Amino acid sequence: MTWQEQYSTRMMKSAALPSLELVRGEGCYVWDSDGNKYLDFLAGIAVNSLGHAHPVLVDAVSRQVATLAHVSNYFATPPQLQLAERLLRLSGGDRVFLCNSGAEAIEAAIKLARRTGRPKILSLMNSFHGRTMGSLSLTGKPQLRESFEPLLPNIEHINSTIDDLERHIGPDVAALVIEPIKGEAGVIDLPEGYLAAARELTSRHGVLLIIDEIQTGAGRTGSWFAFQQHGIVPDAIAVAKGIGGGVPIGALIAFGPAAELLTAGQHGSTFGGNPLASAAANAVLGEIERAGLLQNATTRGAEIRAAIAGLPLVAELRGRGLLIGVGLQKPVASAVVAAAAAVGLIVNAPNDSSIRIAPPLTIGDAEVAEFIQKFTTALTAASEAK
Ligand SMILES: *Cc1c(COP(=O)(O)O)cnc(C)c1O
Repeated sequence: MTWQEQYSTRMMKSAALPSLELVRGEGCYVWDSDGNKYLDFLAGIAVNSLGHAHPVLVDAVSRQVATLAHVSNYFATPPQLQLAERLLRLSGGDRVFLCNSGAEAIEAAIKLARRTGRPKILSLMNSFHGRTMGSLSLTGKPQLRESFEPLLPNIEHINSTIDDLERHIGPDVAALVIEPIKGEAGVIDLPEGYLAAARELTSRHGVLLIIDEIQTGAGRTGSWFAFQQHGIVPDAIAVAKGIGGGVPIGALIAFGPAAELLTAGQHGSTFGGNPLASAAANAVLGEIERAGLLQNATTRGAEIRAAIAGLPLVAELRGRGLLIGVGLQKPVASAVVAAAAAVGLIVNAPNDSSIRIAPPLTIGDAEVAEFIQKFTTALTAASEAK
C-alpha cells in the first residue's frame, strides 16, 4: 500500500489527502519520503518557532522525559511553575491556565466569560478560534459551523468595525473574543485603531476583552504578543502554536480581576501543563529571548516584504513580522503552492487568493535569499499558467 492509499483508507475522512509525506526535519528544512528537500516557510502553521530538531528543544525535551514526563494536576512541578512565571513576565498577565492546544485555550476563555454571569459572547465574522464545539461556536466561518449545529447559544458574529461593536455591546455581553490578525482567514489585519477602540468600549461596558494570540503569539509578529504593539492591556489572551515549538501546549493568560474568575475545581486538564510540554515551552521561549528572535522576526519580515512586493500576481501584503499574508491578483493560490513545492518550498494557501508565509523565527540571510528566489519562480510559473 502507498502512503496515499493508507491515508485514504485508514485516517478519518475529516481532512483532505495531503500532498506530501514528511519524514524528517532539520533547521528550516524538511524532507519527504521520496527524499526531496523543502525549505519550510509554513513551520507547521506558525508552530515550529525554532525550526526543526533545534538542539535546545531536543535537549530540554530529552532531559525532561528522562526525569519526569507527567504526574497529573494533583501535583505541582518545577517546569510548570517556571513556565507560568515566564508567560506572566512576557505578557504582563497575572494568572495562567495551562492546556494542550489552541482550541482548549479558547474553551478556557469561554468558561472565564461564563463566570461573569453575562450570557453573550461577541466574536468576529471570518475569524478562526478552533474546531471543538465551544471554539467552533466562536469561529466566524459558517461553512465550518453548519454541519455541527446546534452549537453554543448567545454567540454573535459581528463585523470587524468599531461601529458594529458599538451596536452589539451592552450589559448582556460577557466578552469580545478577537484575533489581532486573522490568520486562517488569510492573514487579515484589523482596521487601524480597532484594538485600542475595542479596549475602550469593552472597559466602559464591563466586557472582557479576550485576544486570541494562538497564531500571533510567541514572537511571531515581532513582539512577544501582538497586542503589545497596540498599547492596550487585555483581560485574557489565548496562546498555543509557537509556544511549544512543536510539542503540543496551550495557555490562557488572564490579567487583573479576570484572573480571579475561575475558582478551585471549575476547570482542569489531565495533560495540561505537564512537565514534558512545559519544559519544551520553557526551552522555546528561552531561546527566542536569548537569540533575539523578536528582532529577527521584525527585520526578516521587512526584508521579505520588500523583496516580494513587486513580484508577479502580488496584489497586497498583510500581517506583521513573520506572519505574512500575500493577497493575489487572481484566485490561483493552490497553483502557487504547487509550483512552490515543485521547486522545494513549502508555503500555504488559507484561501483561493491568499498565500500565508510563516517561517521559523530563526531564519537568516541564506533562508531569506533562497525563499525569495523560489517564491519568485513559483509566482512566475503560476502567473504564466492558463
Ligand atoms: C490554530 C488556531 C486555533 C486553534 O488551535 P488548535 O491548536 O488547532 O486547536 C485557534 N485560534 C487561532 C487564531 C489559530 O490560529
